[in-house]
Amino acid sequence: MDRSDLSRRSLLGLGSLAALSIPLAGAGPASAAPTFPDPGSSTPLSAIRSYGDMADQLHALARSSRFPVTVRTLSQIGTQESLSEQGRELYVATVGSGATPVWVQGRIHGNEPYGLDSTMTVLRSLATSGAAQWARIREEFTVHVIPVYNPDGSEANIRETILWDRAADAPRLDAQGRQQRIDLNRDWSPTGFVARESLAWYEYWTMVKPAYALDIHHQGLKRDYVTGEEITFSLGISLAPGGPTLPTLEGGAYDVLTRQMQSHVWLETKDYGFIGIDKYDVGYGTVIDIRGGVVSAMMLGLDHAGLNPSGHSNPAVFFETSGNTRDGNIGHKARGKMVRQNVLGLTAWLDGLADGSVFEVDPTIWDDQIPGTPVLRYLTDWGGVIPA
Ligand SMILES: [Zn+2]
Repeated sequence: MDRSDLSRRSLLGLGSLAALSIPLAGAGPASAAPTFPDPGSSTPLSAIRSYGDMADQLHALARSSRFPVTVRTLSQIGTQESLSEQGRELYVATVGSGATPVWVQGRIHGNEPYGLDSTMTVLRSLATSGAAQWARIREEFTVHVIPVYNPDGSEANIRETILWDRAADAPRLDAQGRQQRIDLNRDWSPTGFVARESLAWYEYWTMVKPAYALDIHHQGLKRDYVTGEEITFSLGISLAPGGPTLPTLEGGAYDVLTRQMQSHVWLETKDYGFIGIDKYDVGYGTVIDIRGGVVSAMMLGLDHAGLNPSGHSNPAVFFETSGNTRDGNIGHKARGKMVRQNVLGLTAWLDGLADGSVFEVDPTIWDDQIPGTPVLRYLTDWGGVIPA
């Protein structure tokens, strides 16, 4: 998800927001927090891991790891649709021997790169560390790691995937002769599944039936609306807690569980001095309730094309890190900390689910303790903007 992308078109038309003299998402100059390096004004694309790097590193890890890692493509697994629009293989690595499947994905938005680095770092710990924490995660879970959900967008350094005419090896053009780009994180919907990647990963999800899922993104440079302090890490729940959708699912269980997951992550990461954490929003007073997002559709138990007849669903959350390559504000100096905060958060999430501590967390920590904007309205992909 990307807050600036999500918000600009939808929110700029709102009179109520225009009346607030508060900058919208993504506005404002970049500058450094005391403990987080200035992300800089240029993006070192050559230093960002590529899809090819990922494939090489996955295979190398599978060959050399202390604990078994299985690296497969969806072609090898045998989903009906198994390639990206442009024909790239879709990779998943699994590790652990537990009965409970867990889903971790990065880089569904191609210009949000560090989901790849973060998931690879955690995968390496899962594959090589003998520490009790990692042993417990391997015993409890089989973790399905998808470092790059959107290889075409990653290679092109764009958010979306481009619908592709494979015979002509060129973009499929619309009636006006324009490329058709699909945001893969809005494509798991009753009217979606336009892109091949969506069909492929969705079918895999119906095969895995994970118990929990996590998705890693980047957002624009963000500051706390009140204090002005830099926010480097936002915790997200794509169907708003207490909002119009989440409390209706599974008797309200996901409304509690998602808050417990993110509250646990917050408790475990808030005291690292270099991380500035809040709850994800798309502008002052506005949070999302997006049903076509992948992790939302998982919670909704979407049954597309009869592939999910049992209505499997699972609670799911997401992380947002500062900067993205589109805005050129992800410079190299902050890279280590940007990746590290995701790794810390992802590790806390896995560990807390494996040892059960997530389920002991007070879910009202989400509402009462984690910094964030007041919830005045919901930005939806199904009913416009709805007052809270
Ligand atoms: Zn994103």
